[in-house]
Amino acid sequence: MGAPLIVPPEETPMPPTLAESAVLLLPELVALRRSIHEEPEIGLELPLTQAKVLAALEGLGLEVSVGEKLSSVTAVLRGGRPGPAVLLRGDMDALPVQETSGLPFASRVAGVMHACGHDLHVAGLVGAARLLVERREELAGSVVFMFQPGEEGGGGAQLMVDEGVLDAAGTGVVAAYALHVAAALLPAGWVASRPGPVMAASDTLHVTFRGRGGHGSMPHAALDPLPAACEAVLGLQTMVTRRFDAFDPVVVTVGTFHAGSVENVIPETATFAATIRSFSVEAREKVAQEALRVVRGIADAHGLTVEAEIEGGYPVTVNDPSEAAFAADVVTRELGEGRYVEMPHAVAGSEDFGVLDKLVPSSYLMLGATPADRDPFTAPYNHAPEARFDDGVLGDGAALLAGLAMGRLARG
Ligand SMILES: [Zn+2]
Repeated sequence: MGAPLIVPPEETPMPPTLAESAVLLLPELVALRRSIHEEPEIGLELPLTQAKVLAALEGLGLEVSVGEKLSSVTAVLRGGRPGPAVLLRGDMDALPVQETSGLPFASRVAGVMHACGHDLHVAGLVGAARLLVERREELAGSVVFMFQPGEEGGGGAQLMVDEGVLDAAGTGVVAAYALHVAAALLPAGWVASRPGPVMAASDTLHVTFRGRGGHGSMPHAALDPLPAACEAVLGLQTMVTRRFDAFDPVVVTVGTFHAGSVENVIPETATFAATIRSFSVEAREKVAQEALRVVRGIADAHGLTVEAEIEGGYPVTVNDPSEAAFAADVVTRELGEGRYVEMPHAVAGSEDFGVLDKLVPSSYLMLGATPADRDPFTAPYNHAPEARFDDGVLGDGAALLAGLAMGRLARG
């Protein structure tokens, strides 16, 4: 990587590899990433970020369009030869986090931070576009660059699908790829993925137990929803351990619980909400049914009424086995031996790239971006206010995305 090319005088010079070309782009990609990092935006409307993407793509000869219901950017590169299309996705949005990283280019917006590294995803995808434009004539087909707002809630991927991102090239998309940077757990430049489930489905359970309020000294004259709601919280944990296969696990975490305002009054309601993570379609359906049954059964046992509903979130992200194997080969080919590690299991975080992999064979990969001065095992992870990402990996990220697109189109 980055070594100067030594060319014997009489021989035809070898064309640079993607990784070698990416080294030359790195200063620009780092500058773009830091500019986005300084001005983070949340949700589906990211006008500043969108403007930076449009400026970075200007003059590359791409067919560029923007979203209607969200500030997305879709860019299509037509290769020099006919063929199908592949899609590369980078998400663009930040999080409601107050940054404490201490970086000179830290967020200048109070309470908003690129704590999940999506600023690197934008810059990496711009880099991939630049690398592929340089190799346009070699490309047998088209590449769709999907710059997506609203990954951290908001369902941006689904909105972009609804607005036609998969039809942007006019021919069918045969594969989709995405990279996600990690501020810890993976050393900088390492790439991790796996066939099958790679990120969890995420749904939310909302529950309100309703009884009858009264004096705290006379519970028999009231109908106290609070102990029953507590029982339901514990009942959900028992459900997880007794009703689900240890090898197709679910996670249920009750993250809010609200009841009452003073110790000597029995409240009328007790309300809680839980996040539910699952790793298969079957477990996702089953946990929704069973969780509702548990809370309704407990309410019934205590003579209470209950309002309980599941708010559907993102589906499980599943890597197509052949695309995952191909992506692992591309990592080794473009970045070198020893750079790919297979994840032993999926991650319980969730991601709306899972919307795309239901429509086209896909692969989703993690790219280590742990800063050199931090231990991957103890560094603050994504979403932490002190998280830092090593943007020295941007060249590798761009080369890998470009390699995935070129390699997949070469397969036809
Ligand atoms: Zn993220």
